[in-house]
Amino acid sequence: MSAIHTDSYPDSYYFSTINDTQEYPQLSESIEADVCIVGGGFSGIASAVELAERGLNVVVLEAKKIAWGASGRNGGQMIRGIGHDLSVFKKQIGQEGIDAISQMGFEANQVVIDRVKKYNIECDLTMGYCDLATRTKDMRALEQDYELLAQGSYGEKVKLLDQNQLHQQVVGSNSFIGGLEDSGSGHLHPLNLCLGEATVAQQLGVQIFERSKVIKIDKGETVVVHTEDGQVKAKQLILAGNAYLENLVPKISGKILPAGSYIIATEQLPEDVYQAILPNNHAVCDMKIDLDYFRLSADKRLLFGGMCNYSGRNPKDIKAALHPKMLSVFPKLAGINIDYQWGGMIGIGANRLPQIGRLTPNIYYAQAYSGHGVNVTHMAAKLLAEAISGDSKGINHFNAVKHITFPGGKYMRSPLLALGMMYHKMLDAF
Ligand SMILES: Cc1cc2nc3c(=O)[nH]c(=O)nc-3n(C[C@H](O)[C@H](O)[C@H](O)COP(=O)(O)OP(=O)(O)OC[C@H]3O[C@@H](n4cnc5c(N)ncnc54)[C@H](O)[C@@H]3O)c2cc1C
Repeated sequence: MSAIHTDSYPDSYYFSTINDTQEYPQLSESIEADVCIVGGGFSGIASAVELAERGLNVVVLEAKKIAWGASGRNGGQMIRGIGHDLSVFKKQIGQEGIDAISQMGFEANQVVIDRVKKYNIECDLTMGYCDLATRTKDMRALEQDYELLAQGSYGEKVKLLDQNQLHQQVVGSNSFIGGLEDSGSGHLHPLNLCLGEATVAQQLGVQIFERSKVIKIDKGETVVVHTEDGQVKAKQLILAGNAYLENLVPKISGKILPAGSYIIATEQLPEDVYQAILPNNHAVCDMKIDLDYFRLSADKRLLFGGMCNYSGRNPKDIKAALHPKMLSVFPKLAGINIDYQWGGMIGIGANRLPQIGRLTPNIYYAQAYSGHGVNVTHMAAKLLAEAISGDSKGINHFNAVKHITFPGGKYMRSPLLALGMMYHKMLDAF
């Protein structure tokens, strides 16, 4: 099994195709900044870019390596939307808030696309995505999504596909009965995107430190952020440690639970095989609670992910757990080798809305993208940078939503969530 909690990157397909092996120094002195950011994943690095573009002096402190967490390990699927049903928040944020957040969900992919284009970041960005229905109820849900999307400007990017069209154009498998194709979503190499953005941030003047775990924060008009060997005095602080933040700031870490998600990558596939399974190189996800997600890499491996694990414990053998699922979708891949297996931690919130807000007048946070962070982290970064620069309109929509602290304290939270999710998976299966 790949190592998940070490200082180096896991032995993933992404690490084996990394563009940039730049090392950033460890913090070993006392420095000052306008904004200090804890965490060097998409949330932290994209915030650093946004803030530096606005002329602020920024420091990023990363406990391990840039993109060591979920940002360097994920499925690379860049999917429109904030990810979950917003109507349940109507009482708290009103229709105006719902409309604003759903509009941000449509714009979030564009934030990533614009960043990649503006700075020429090599990250295999490829457009084309499809939601896959395995059951009639999924197809009904996709038809409803389509009806809604067709009324707005995103409508031209989506298309409902019946089983025949889906098989011919998107996925050569009998597991699916239809889909909703989305040309505004797509996939990319997440580790290379985040490392590319870190290089951009550095070029814009951001100071980045690796192997610099934040161990204490003194709140106040000037926030003092301590690592083992140094400190940063900053006017503003962003907490972007997400599922890896542990107990640094209990007030926000109690509101998310780390859940594992896992991926296997095949050997490079012959052309006739990859053309047969994913003929138009889309990223795809099915719609089960315990969803499978998969796509081709740039060098034509199948990256097959799934098996969300809420227990807080990693499986002993990722391949043994995921390989049978992959073969049930694509029996023709029997005999194809699995070259890589890895996993990482997703931050899950109780109501599944990303938690983006302000803890004190000068301490901000962004976390709990609930498995949907490639684009939403970038939107969160934009909102945080706008708020720090004096425009809090966007962030206020998120900040108005109350997020509960998971019951059970540090030790019982994960077992309780695992039990709850088992119940929901059973309902979903029936
Ligand atoms: C296997 C997997 C598959 C996924 N697939 C997809 C997908 O296909 N599409 C999608 O949209 N999303 C996906 N996600 C979710 C997505 O990856 C995350 O939502 C997103 O990367 C979160 O970014 P982040 O920067 O908030 O957190 P992370 O990338 O986890 O970064 C947090 C960083 O903070 C650092 N840190 C924590 N505490 C401290 C501290 N005290 N001091 C200093 N640094 C600290 C950590 O070391 C870490 O590097 C997936 C996630 C996983 C794990």
